[in-house]
Amino acid sequence: MFLDTKSPNLGYYPTCCLPSFLPLKTNCMQTELRQLKINGTVLEAGDAGYDNARKVWNGMIDRKPALIAQCTSADDIRECVRFAKKNNMIVSVKGGGHNVAGNAVCEAGLMIDLSKMKEIRVDIANKTATAEPGVILREFDAATIANGLATTGGTVSDTGLAGLTLGGGLGWLMGKYGITADNLLSAEMVLANGDKVKVDKDNHPDLYWAIRGGGGNFGIVSKFEYQLYSFGPNVVAGMILYPMDQAKAVMQFYRDYARSVPDELMAYSGFIVSPDGLPVTFVLPAWLGDVKDAEKHLAPIRAFGTPLADMIAEIPYTALQSILDAAAPAGIRRYWKSGYFTELSDELLDIVLKYIATRPSPMSPVLFFHMRGVAARTATEATAFGNRRDQWDSDIISQWLDAADDEKNISWTRSFWKEIEPLTNGVYVNHLGSDDDTRVANAYGANFERLKAIKKKYDPDNFFKMNNNIKPA
Ligand SMILES: Cc1cc2nc3c(=O)[nH]c(=O)nc-3n(C[C@H](O)[C@H](O)[C@H](O)COP(=O)(O)OP(=O)(O)OC[C@H]3O[C@@H](n4cnc5c(N)ncnc54)[C@H](O)[C@@H]3O)c2cc1C
Repeated sequence: MFLDTKSPNLGYYPTCCLPSFLPLKTNCMQTELRQLKINGTVLEAGDAGYDNARKVWNGMIDRKPALIAQCTSADDIRECVRFAKKNNMIVSVKGGGHNVAGNAVCEAGLMIDLSKMKEIRVDIANKTATAEPGVILREFDAATIANGLATTGGTVSDTGLAGLTLGGGLGWLMGKYGITADNLLSAEMVLANGDKVKVDKDNHPDLYWAIRGGGGNFGIVSKFEYQLYSFGPNVVAGMILYPMDQAKAVMQFYRDYARSVPDELMAYSGFIVSPDGLPVTFVLPAWLGDVKDAEKHLAPIRAFGTPLADMIAEIPYTALQSILDAAAPAGIRRYWKSGYFTELSDELLDIVLKYIATRPSPMSPVLFFHMRGVAARTATEATAFGNRRDQWDSDIISQWLDAADDEKNISWTRSFWKEIEPLTNGVYVNHLGSDDDTRVANAYGANFERLKAIKKKYDPDNFFKMNNNIKPA
Protein backbone atom coordinates (compact mmCIF):
# COMPACT_ATOMS: atom_id res chain seq x y z
CA MET A 1 0.00 0.00 0.00
CA PHE A 2 1.08 3.55 -0.78
CA LEU A 3 1.45 5.77 2.23
CA ASP A 4 0.58 9.32 1.27
CA THR A 5 1.93 11.02 4.37
CA LYS A 6 1.09 14.48 3.02
CA SER A 7 -2.63 13.87 2.63
CA PRO A 8 -4.18 13.39 6.05
CA ASN A 9 -4.79 16.05 8.68
CA LEU A 10 -3.43 19.00 6.72
CA GLY A 11 -6.04 21.43 5.67
CA TYR A 12 -7.94 24.62 5.71
CA TYR A 13 -8.95 25.84 9.13
CA PRO A 14 -10.56 29.30 8.91
CA THR A 15 -10.93 30.66 12.39
CA CYS A 16 -14.60 31.48 11.83
CA CYS A 17 -15.37 27.84 11.13
CA LEU A 18 -13.79 25.91 13.96
CA PRO A 19 -13.74 23.11 14.84
CA SER A 20 -11.58 21.78 12.02
CA PHE A 21 -13.26 18.37 11.92
CA LEU A 22 -16.33 19.91 10.29
CA PRO A 23 -16.84 19.02 6.62
CA LEU A 24 -14.46 21.16 4.59
CA LYS A 25 -16.89 23.10 2.43
CA THR A 26 -19.19 25.07 4.66
CA ASN A 27 -20.84 28.21 3.25
CA CYS A 28 -18.65 30.34 5.47
CA MET A 29 -15.49 28.79 4.02
CA GLN A 30 -16.64 29.08 0.45
CA THR A 31 -17.36 32.77 0.92
CA GLU A 32 -13.89 33.36 2.33
CA LEU A 33 -12.20 31.34 -0.36
CA ARG A 34 -13.74 33.46 -3.08
CA GLN A 35 -11.98 36.49 -1.62
CA LEU A 36 -8.55 35.55 -2.96
CA LYS A 37 -7.96 38.15 -5.66
CA ILE A 38 -4.91 37.88 -7.94
CA ASN A 39 -4.17 38.81 -11.53
CA GLY A 40 -3.87 35.13 -12.39
CA THR A 41 -6.63 32.53 -12.22
CA VAL A 42 -8.09 31.04 -9.04
CA LEU A 43 -9.57 27.55 -9.41
CA GLU A 44 -11.81 25.49 -7.15
CA ALA A 45 -13.03 21.89 -7.52
CA GLY A 46 -15.48 21.75 -10.40
CA ASP A 47 -13.82 24.59 -12.35
CA ALA A 48 -12.49 23.80 -15.81
CA GLY A 49 -8.75 23.33 -15.45
CA TYR A 50 -8.83 22.42 -11.75
CA ASP A 51 -8.15 18.71 -12.23
CA ASN A 52 -5.44 19.35 -14.77
CA ALA A 53 -3.71 21.91 -12.54
CA ARG A 54 -3.53 19.54 -9.56
CA LYS A 55 -1.91 16.75 -11.60
CA VAL A 56 1.80 16.16 -11.10
CA TRP A 57 4.42 13.85 -12.60
CA ASN A 58 3.73 11.04 -10.11
CA GLY A 59 0.30 9.61 -10.91
CA MET A 60 -0.03 8.25 -7.33
CA ILE A 61 -0.59 11.80 -6.07
CA ASP A 62 -4.29 12.59 -6.00
CA ARG A 63 -4.70 15.50 -3.58
CA LYS A 64 -7.42 18.10 -3.85
CA PRO A 65 -6.47 21.65 -2.82
CA ALA A 66 -9.32 23.89 -1.66
CA LEU A 67 -7.96 26.53 -4.03
CA ILE A 68 -5.40 26.62 -6.81
CA ALA A 69 -3.93 30.08 -7.42
CA GLN A 70 -2.27 30.31 -10.82
CA CYS A 71 0.01 33.26 -10.19
CA THR A 72 1.45 35.59 -12.80
CA SER A 73 3.77 37.74 -10.68
CA ALA A 74 5.53 38.18 -7.35
CA ASP A 75 2.62 40.39 -6.28
CA ASP A 76 0.20 37.51 -6.88
CA ILE A 77 2.44 35.28 -4.76
CA ARG A 78 2.49 37.87 -1.96
CA GLU A 79 -1.29 38.04 -2.00
CA CYS A 80 -1.48 34.23 -1.75
CA VAL A 81 0.88 34.22 1.25
CA ARG A 82 -1.15 36.94 2.96
CA PHE A 83 -4.43 35.15 2.23
CA ALA A 84 -3.22 31.75 3.39
CA LYS A 85 -1.90 33.18 6.65
CA LYS A 86 -5.09 35.10 7.34
CA ASN A 87 -7.16 31.98 6.75
CA ASN A 88 -4.77 29.56 8.42
CA MET A 89 -4.36 27.45 5.28
CA ILE A 90 -1.62 25.00 4.47
CA VAL A 91 0.17 26.06 1.28
CA SER A 92 2.01 24.10 -1.35
CA VAL A 93 4.06 25.56 -4.19
CA LYS A 94 4.14 24.10 -7.69
CA GLY A 95 6.99 24.80 -10.08
CA GLY A 96 7.25 22.01 -12.66
CA GLY A 97 5.36 19.46 -10.52
CA HIS A 98 8.08 16.85 -10.95
CA ASN A 99 8.83 16.08 -7.31
CA VAL A 100 8.16 12.38 -6.76
CA ALA A 101 6.61 12.92 -3.32
CA GLY A 102 4.07 15.30 -4.85
CA ASN A 103 4.99 18.20 -2.58
CA ALA A 104 3.61 20.65 -5.12
CA VAL A 105 0.04 19.67 -4.20
CA CYS A 106 -1.64 19.96 -0.80
CA GLU A 107 -4.86 18.45 0.45
CA ALA A 108 -7.58 21.03 1.19
CA GLY A 109 -5.20 23.98 1.31
CA LEU A 110 -3.95 26.66 -1.07
CA MET A 111 -1.82 25.43 -3.93
CA ILE A 112 0.30 28.29 -5.25
CA ASP A 113 0.77 27.26 -8.87
CA LEU A 114 3.68 29.03 -10.54
CA SER A 115 3.63 26.94 -13.71
CA LYS A 116 2.26 29.82 -15.81
CA MET A 117 5.22 32.09 -14.94
CA LYS A 118 7.48 31.32 -17.86
CA GLU A 119 9.51 34.39 -18.74
CA ILE A 120 13.16 33.73 -19.65
CA ARG A 121 15.65 36.51 -20.45
CA VAL A 122 19.15 35.79 -21.68
CA ASP A 123 21.84 38.48 -21.30
CA ILE A 124 24.30 37.38 -23.98
CA ALA A 125 26.97 39.97 -23.17
CA ASN A 126 27.12 39.11 -19.47
CA LYS A 127 26.43 35.38 -19.96
CA THR A 128 23.57 35.33 -17.49
CA ALA A 129 19.87 34.45 -17.68
CA THR A 130 16.82 35.08 -15.53
CA ALA A 131 13.93 32.65 -15.41
CA GLU A 132 10.55 32.67 -13.74
CA PRO A 133 9.61 29.66 -11.60
CA GLY A 134 7.26 27.95 -14.07
CA VAL A 135 10.03 27.34 -16.58
CA ILE A 136 10.88 23.70 -17.29
CA LEU A 137 14.36 22.54 -18.30
CA ARG A 138 13.69 22.10 -22.01
CA GLU A 139 12.43 25.69 -22.25
CA PHE A 140 15.45 27.07 -20.43
CA ASP A 141 17.97 25.00 -22.40
CA ALA A 142 16.40 25.99 -25.72
CA ALA A 143 16.58 29.69 -24.83
CA THR A 144 20.21 29.62 -23.70
CA ILE A 145 21.71 27.26 -26.29
CA ALA A 146 20.16 29.34 -29.07
CA ASN A 147 22.71 31.94 -27.97
CA GLY A 148 25.60 29.47 -27.65
CA LEU A 149 25.24 29.40 -23.85
CA ALA A 150 24.25 26.84 -21.21
CA THR A 151 24.43 26.05 -17.53
CA THR A 152 23.95 22.83 -15.57
CA GLY A 153 20.39 21.45 -15.66
CA GLY A 154 19.03 17.94 -15.10
CA THR A 155 18.56 14.86 -17.27
CA VAL A 156 14.81 14.81 -18.01
CA SER A 157 13.55 17.80 -19.94
CA ASP A 158 10.11 18.36 -18.37
CA THR A 159 11.58 18.75 -14.87
CA GLY A 160 10.88 22.15 -13.30
CA LEU A 161 13.85 24.50 -13.11
CA ALA A 162 12.62 25.90 -9.77
CA GLY A 163 12.50 22.74 -7.65
CA LEU A 164 15.61 21.37 -9.34
CA THR A 165 17.66 24.50 -8.56
CA LEU A 166 16.44 24.89 -4.98
CA GLY A 167 17.32 21.26 -4.16
CA GLY A 168 20.68 21.34 -5.97
CA GLY A 169 20.45 20.32 -9.62
CA LEU A 170 22.51 17.34 -10.81
CA GLY A 171 23.01 17.22 -14.55
CA TRP A 172 25.39 16.56 -17.41
CA LEU A 173 27.37 19.77 -16.96
CA MET A 174 28.00 19.42 -13.22
CA GLY A 175 31.50 18.01 -13.73
CA LYS A 176 32.51 21.13 -15.67
CA TYR A 177 30.45 23.86 -14.01
CA GLY A 178 29.14 22.54 -10.68
CA ILE A 179 25.53 21.78 -9.81
CA THR A 180 22.71 24.12 -10.88
CA ALA A 181 22.60 25.78 -7.45
CA ASP A 182 26.32 26.61 -7.75
CA ASN A 183 25.36 28.73 -10.75
CA LEU A 184 22.49 30.60 -9.09
CA LEU A 185 23.63 34.24 -8.92
CA SER A 186 20.56 35.76 -7.30
CA ALA A 187 16.88 35.23 -6.60
CA GLU A 188 13.79 37.31 -5.98
CA MET A 189 11.78 35.79 -3.13
CA VAL A 190 8.54 36.20 -1.23
CA LEU A 191 9.14 35.35 2.42
CA ALA A 192 6.75 33.89 5.00
CA ASN A 193 6.12 37.41 6.37
CA GLY A 194 5.02 38.53 2.89
CA ASP A 195 8.11 40.64 2.13
CA LYS A 196 9.57 40.53 -1.36
CA VAL A 197 13.37 40.50 -1.20
CA LYS A 198 16.39 40.24 -3.45
CA VAL A 199 18.76 37.50 -2.38
CA ASP A 200 22.39 37.29 -3.48
CA LYS A 201 25.89 37.34 -2.00
CA ASP A 202 25.36 40.88 -0.66
CA ASN A 203 21.65 40.82 0.22
CA HIS A 204 20.51 38.26 2.80
CA PRO A 205 23.70 36.19 2.32
CA ASP A 206 22.44 33.58 4.81
CA LEU A 207 19.33 33.05 2.71
CA TYR A 208 21.42 32.99 -0.47
CA TRP A 209 23.43 30.15 1.07
CA ALA A 210 20.28 28.31 2.21
CA ILE A 211 18.33 28.36 -1.06
CA ARG A 212 21.23 26.76 -2.94
CA GLY A 213 20.22 23.24 -1.89
CA GLY A 214 17.81 23.86 0.99
CA GLY A 215 14.70 23.46 -1.18
CA GLY A 216 11.50 25.49 -0.84
CA ASN A 217 11.82 25.81 2.93
CA PHE A 218 12.64 29.52 3.14
CA GLY A 219 10.17 31.28 0.86
CA ILE A 220 8.82 31.31 -2.67
CA VAL A 221 11.23 32.21 -5.42
CA SER A 222 9.63 34.41 -8.07
CA LYS A 223 12.74 34.83 -10.21
CA PHE A 224 16.09 33.04 -10.59
CA GLU A 225 19.28 34.47 -12.10
CA TYR A 226 21.94 32.06 -13.44
CA GLN A 227 25.53 32.12 -14.60
CA LEU A 228 25.85 30.78 -18.16
CA TYR A 229 28.87 29.51 -20.10
CA SER A 230 29.77 29.44 -23.79
CA PHE A 231 28.82 25.93 -24.81
CA GLY A 232 27.88 23.60 -27.64
CA PRO A 233 25.71 23.51 -29.54
CA ASN A 234 26.74 19.86 -30.04
CA VAL A 235 28.05 17.11 -27.78
CA VAL A 236 29.11 13.52 -28.46
CA ALA A 237 26.95 11.10 -26.51
CA GLY A 238 24.67 8.08 -26.63
CA MET A 239 23.69 4.84 -24.99
CA ILE A 240 25.65 1.63 -25.29
CA LEU A 241 23.39 -1.36 -24.55
CA TYR A 242 24.62 -4.74 -23.32
CA PRO A 243 22.82 -8.04 -22.68
CA MET A 244 22.31 -8.94 -19.02
CA ASP A 245 24.88 -11.75 -19.13
CA GLN A 246 27.55 -9.05 -19.47
CA ALA A 247 25.98 -6.78 -16.84
CA LYS A 248 28.36 -7.34 -13.96
CA ALA A 249 31.51 -7.14 -16.08
CA VAL A 250 30.22 -3.97 -17.78
CA MET A 251 29.45 -2.30 -14.45
CA GLN A 252 32.86 -3.28 -13.05
CA PHE A 253 34.57 -1.76 -16.08
CA TYR A 254 32.28 1.27 -16.01
CA ARG A 255 32.94 2.17 -12.35
CA ASP A 256 36.69 2.56 -13.03
CA TYR A 257 36.28 4.17 -16.45
CA ALA A 258 33.87 6.82 -15.14
CA ARG A 259 36.53 7.95 -12.65
CA SER A 260 39.45 7.86 -15.08
CA VAL A 261 38.25 10.49 -17.56
CA PRO A 262 38.42 14.34 -17.58
CA ASP A 263 35.62 16.49 -16.11
CA GLU A 264 34.26 16.98 -19.65
CA LEU A 265 33.23 13.34 -19.78
CA MET A 266 30.26 12.29 -17.72
CA ALA A 267 29.11 8.68 -17.81
CA TYR A 268 25.88 7.42 -16.29
CA SER A 269 24.67 3.82 -16.29
CA GLY A 270 21.80 1.60 -15.26
CA PHE A 271 19.30 -1.10 -16.03
CA ILE A 272 16.33 -0.65 -18.32
CA VAL A 273 14.17 -2.74 -20.59
CA SER A 274 14.67 -2.06 -24.30
CA PRO A 275 11.68 -1.03 -26.47
CA ASP A 276 11.39 -4.64 -27.69
CA GLY A 277 11.10 -5.96 -24.13
CA LEU A 278 14.68 -7.12 -23.51
CA PRO A 279 16.21 -6.33 -20.08
CA VAL A 280 19.53 -4.59 -20.73
CA THR A 281 22.40 -2.84 -18.96
CA PHE A 282 23.41 0.51 -20.37
CA VAL A 283 26.28 2.93 -20.13
CA LEU A 284 25.53 6.47 -21.25
CA PRO A 285 28.67 8.54 -21.72
CA ALA A 286 28.64 12.16 -22.88
CA TRP A 287 31.68 14.11 -24.04
CA LEU A 288 31.02 17.76 -23.22
CA GLY A 289 34.25 19.28 -24.50
CA ASP A 290 35.42 20.06 -28.03
CA VAL A 291 33.75 17.44 -30.27
CA LYS A 292 36.99 16.72 -32.10
CA ASP A 293 38.49 15.34 -28.86
CA ALA A 294 35.59 13.01 -28.14
CA GLU A 295 36.69 9.76 -29.68
CA LYS A 296 39.93 9.30 -27.80
CA HIS A 297 38.11 9.60 -24.46
CA LEU A 298 35.15 7.47 -25.50
CA ALA A 299 37.25 4.73 -27.13
CA PRO A 300 37.86 2.61 -23.99
CA ILE A 301 34.17 2.22 -23.11
CA ARG A 302 33.22 1.65 -26.74
CA ALA A 303 35.80 -1.12 -27.02
CA PHE A 304 34.60 -2.99 -23.95
CA GLY A 305 32.49 -6.17 -24.15
CA THR A 306 30.10 -7.08 -26.94
CA PRO A 307 27.33 -4.48 -26.99
CA LEU A 308 23.91 -5.04 -28.50
CA ALA A 309 23.99 -1.47 -29.77
CA ASP A 310 26.28 1.56 -29.62
CA MET A 311 24.30 4.72 -30.29
CA ILE A 312 27.08 7.25 -29.64
CA ALA A 313 26.94 10.13 -32.10
CA GLU A 314 27.40 13.87 -32.34
CA ILE A 315 24.03 15.26 -31.23
CA PRO A 316 22.63 18.66 -30.17
CA TYR A 317 22.98 19.44 -26.46
CA THR A 318 19.17 19.68 -26.29
CA ALA A 319 18.96 16.06 -27.52
CA LEU A 320 21.25 14.98 -24.68
CA GLN A 321 19.06 16.91 -22.25
CA SER A 322 16.04 14.83 -23.29
CA ILE A 323 17.76 11.49 -23.90
CA LEU A 324 16.13 9.89 -20.83
CA ASP A 325 12.67 11.46 -21.32
CA ALA A 326 11.11 8.30 -22.72
CA ALA A 327 12.04 6.40 -19.55
CA ALA A 328 10.07 8.85 -17.37
CA PRO A 329 6.64 9.56 -18.89
CA ALA A 330 4.46 11.95 -16.88
CA GLY A 331 1.39 10.80 -14.99
CA ILE A 332 1.91 7.08 -14.33
CA ARG A 333 2.14 5.41 -10.89
CA ARG A 334 5.44 5.67 -9.04
CA TYR A 335 7.34 4.73 -5.93
CA TRP A 336 10.98 5.77 -5.61
CA LYS A 337 13.98 5.06 -3.38
CA SER A 338 17.32 6.78 -3.72
CA GLY A 339 20.72 7.17 -2.09
CA TYR A 340 24.37 7.93 -2.81
CA PHE A 341 26.99 5.22 -3.23
CA THR A 342 30.63 6.14 -2.85
CA GLU A 343 31.58 2.84 -4.50
CA LEU A 344 29.77 0.54 -6.92
CA SER A 345 31.05 -2.46 -5.00
CA ASP A 346 30.63 -6.06 -6.12
CA GLU A 347 28.33 -6.56 -3.12
CA LEU A 348 26.07 -3.74 -4.34
CA LEU A 349 26.11 -4.99 -7.94
CA ASP A 350 25.13 -8.50 -6.84
CA ILE A 351 22.10 -7.18 -4.92
CA VAL A 352 21.07 -4.95 -7.81
CA LEU A 353 21.30 -7.81 -10.31
CA LYS A 354 19.29 -10.09 -8.03
CA TYR A 355 16.42 -7.57 -7.82
CA ILE A 356 16.55 -6.57 -11.49
CA ALA A 357 15.88 -10.23 -12.32
CA THR A 358 12.63 -10.17 -10.30
CA ARG A 359 11.42 -6.65 -11.20
CA PRO A 360 7.58 -6.76 -11.29
CA SER A 361 7.29 -3.95 -13.83
CA PRO A 362 9.47 -3.75 -16.96
CA MET A 363 8.99 0.03 -16.85
CA SER A 364 11.13 0.37 -13.69
CA PRO A 365 14.71 1.50 -14.28
CA VAL A 366 17.57 1.46 -11.78
CA LEU A 367 19.90 4.35 -12.57
CA PHE A 368 23.37 5.48 -11.50
CA PHE A 369 24.22 9.17 -11.99
CA HIS A 370 27.89 9.91 -11.42
CA MET A 371 28.60 13.10 -9.46
CA ARG A 372 32.15 14.31 -9.99
CA GLY A 373 34.38 17.15 -11.10
CA VAL A 374 33.48 20.66 -9.93
CA ALA A 375 30.23 19.41 -8.31
CA ALA A 376 32.19 17.04 -6.08
CA ARG A 377 35.20 19.28 -5.43
CA THR A 378 33.27 22.38 -4.29
CA ALA A 379 33.39 22.69 -0.50
CA THR A 380 30.33 21.27 1.27
CA GLU A 381 29.95 24.45 3.33
CA ALA A 382 29.94 26.69 0.21
CA THR A 383 26.20 26.13 -0.26
CA ALA A 384 23.42 24.33 1.62
CA PHE A 385 23.62 21.33 -0.73
CA GLY A 386 24.97 18.49 1.41
CA ASN A 387 27.01 15.40 0.62
CA ARG A 388 29.50 16.49 -2.01
CA ARG A 389 31.99 13.87 -3.09
CA ASP A 390 32.81 11.72 -6.09
CA GLN A 391 29.88 9.30 -5.87
CA TRP A 392 26.84 7.86 -7.61
CA ASP A 393 23.32 9.14 -7.03
CA SER A 394 21.30 5.97 -7.54
CA ASP A 395 17.55 5.71 -8.00
CA ILE A 396 15.20 2.73 -7.96
CA ILE A 397 12.34 4.22 -9.97
CA SER A 398 9.39 1.84 -9.76
CA GLN A 399 6.81 2.72 -12.40
CA TRP A 400 3.64 0.92 -13.42
CA LEU A 401 0.22 1.63 -14.87
CA ASP A 402 -2.46 -0.13 -12.87
CA ALA A 403 -3.46 0.64 -9.25
CA ALA A 404 -4.01 -3.10 -8.76
CA ASP A 405 -0.22 -3.49 -9.07
CA ASP A 406 0.66 -0.95 -6.34
CA GLU A 407 1.33 -3.52 -3.65
CA LYS A 408 3.71 -5.77 -5.59
CA ASN A 409 5.74 -2.88 -7.00
CA ILE A 410 6.03 -1.06 -3.68
CA SER A 411 6.97 -4.22 -1.77
CA TRP A 412 9.62 -5.10 -4.37
CA THR A 413 11.12 -1.59 -4.06
CA ARG A 414 11.10 -1.70 -0.27
CA SER A 415 12.77 -5.14 -0.10
CA PHE A 416 15.38 -4.04 -2.63
CA TRP A 417 15.99 -0.83 -0.69
CA LYS A 418 16.28 -2.64 2.63
CA GLU A 419 19.21 -4.63 1.25
CA ILE A 420 21.09 -1.75 -0.37
CA GLU A 421 20.40 1.06 2.10
CA PRO A 422 23.23 -0.03 4.46
CA LEU A 423 25.66 0.56 1.58
CA THR A 424 24.50 4.14 0.97
CA ASN A 425 26.19 7.31 2.15
CA GLY A 426 23.59 10.10 2.28
CA VAL A 427 20.88 11.04 -0.19
CA TYR A 428 20.06 13.82 -2.68
CA VAL A 429 17.20 15.84 -1.19
CA ASN A 430 15.38 16.14 -4.52
CA HIS A 431 15.17 12.37 -4.75
CA LEU A 432 13.47 11.75 -1.42
CA GLY A 433 10.19 9.92 -1.83
CA SER A 434 6.77 10.02 -0.24
CA ASP A 435 7.76 8.15 2.94
CA ASP A 436 11.27 9.55 3.40
CA ASP A 437 10.53 12.39 5.87
CA THR A 438 13.00 11.01 8.39
CA ARG A 439 15.84 11.11 5.85
CA VAL A 440 15.95 14.89 5.35
CA ALA A 441 18.83 15.38 7.83
CA ASN A 442 20.71 12.68 5.93
CA ALA A 443 20.49 14.81 2.79
CA TYR A 444 22.28 17.74 4.43
CA GLY A 445 24.89 16.19 6.69
CA ALA A 446 27.08 18.90 8.24
CA ASN A 447 24.89 21.71 6.82
CA PHE A 448 21.70 20.65 8.60
CA GLU A 449 22.10 22.62 11.86
CA ARG A 450 22.83 25.87 9.99
CA LEU A 451 19.78 25.29 7.79
CA LYS A 452 17.55 24.83 10.85
CA ALA A 453 18.82 28.13 12.30
CA ILE A 454 18.15 30.00 9.03
CA LYS A 455 14.70 28.40 8.83
CA LYS A 456 13.99 29.72 12.34
CA LYS A 457 15.02 33.23 11.29
CA TYR A 458 12.97 33.39 8.08
CA ASP A 459 10.09 30.98 8.71
CA PRO A 460 9.79 30.39 12.48
CA ASP A 461 6.23 29.02 12.22
CA ASN A 462 7.15 26.56 9.45
CA PHE A 463 4.62 28.17 7.11
CA PHE A 464 6.42 26.53 4.15
CA LYS A 465 6.19 22.89 5.15
CA MET A 466 5.05 21.06 1.99
CA ASN A 467 8.62 20.23 1.03
CA ASN A 468 11.44 18.06 2.28
CA ASN A 469 10.92 19.88 5.50
CA ILE A 470 13.61 21.45 7.62
CA LYS A 471 11.94 22.25 10.92
CA PRO A 472 12.97 25.53 12.59
CA ALA A 473 15.69 25.09 15.20
C1 LIG B 1 11.87 11.82 -13.94
C2 LIG B 1 12.67 12.71 -13.05
C3 LIG B 1 13.95 13.02 -13.39
C4 LIG B 1 14.71 13.83 -12.57
N1 LIG B 1 15.99 14.11 -12.94
C5 LIG B 1 16.73 14.91 -12.17
C6 LIG B 1 18.05 15.27 -12.55
O1 LIG B 1 18.55 14.84 -13.57
N2 LIG B 1 18.74 16.08 -11.74
C7 LIG B 1 18.22 16.58 -10.59
O2 LIG B 1 18.90 17.33 -9.91
N3 LIG B 1 16.98 16.27 -10.21
C8 LIG B 1 16.23 15.45 -10.97
N4 LIG B 1 14.96 15.13 -10.57
C9 LIG B 1 14.47 15.63 -9.29
C10 LIG B 1 13.96 17.04 -9.45
O3 LIG B 1 15.03 17.93 -9.31
C11 LIG B 1 12.93 17.33 -8.35
O4 LIG B 1 11.85 16.49 -8.53
C12 LIG B 1 12.51 18.79 -8.34
O5 LIG B 1 11.80 18.99 -7.16
C13 LIG B 1 11.63 19.13 -9.51
O6 LIG B 1 11.30 20.48 -9.51
P1 LIG B 1 9.82 20.95 -9.93
O7 LIG B 1 9.82 22.41 -9.91
O8 LIG B 1 9.42 20.23 -11.17
O9 LIG B 1 9.04 20.30 -8.74
P2 LIG B 1 7.69 20.65 -7.87
O10 LIG B 1 7.11 19.30 -7.70
O11 LIG B 1 6.89 21.67 -8.59
O12 LIG B 1 8.30 21.23 -6.60
C14 LIG B 1 9.24 20.52 -5.83
C15 LIG B 1 9.47 21.22 -4.50
O13 LIG B 1 10.03 22.51 -4.74
C16 LIG B 1 9.18 23.50 -4.19
N5 LIG B 1 9.14 24.63 -5.11
C17 LIG B 1 8.88 24.58 -6.43
N6 LIG B 1 8.97 25.81 -6.95
C18 LIG B 1 9.30 26.65 -5.95
C19 LIG B 1 9.54 28.05 -5.87
N7 LIG B 1 9.49 28.84 -6.93
N8 LIG B 1 9.85 28.57 -4.67
C20 LIG B 1 9.93 27.79 -3.56
N9 LIG B 1 9.71 26.46 -3.59
C21 LIG B 1 9.40 25.90 -4.77
C22 LIG B 1 7.84 22.84 -4.04
O14 LIG B 1 7.08 23.41 -3.05
C23 LIG B 1 8.21 21.43 -3.70
O15 LIG B 1 8.48 21.30 -2.34
C24 LIG B 1 14.17 14.34 -11.38
C25 LIG B 1 12.87 14.03 -11.03
C26 LIG B 1 12.13 13.22 -11.84
C27 LIG B 1 10.74 12.88 -11.44
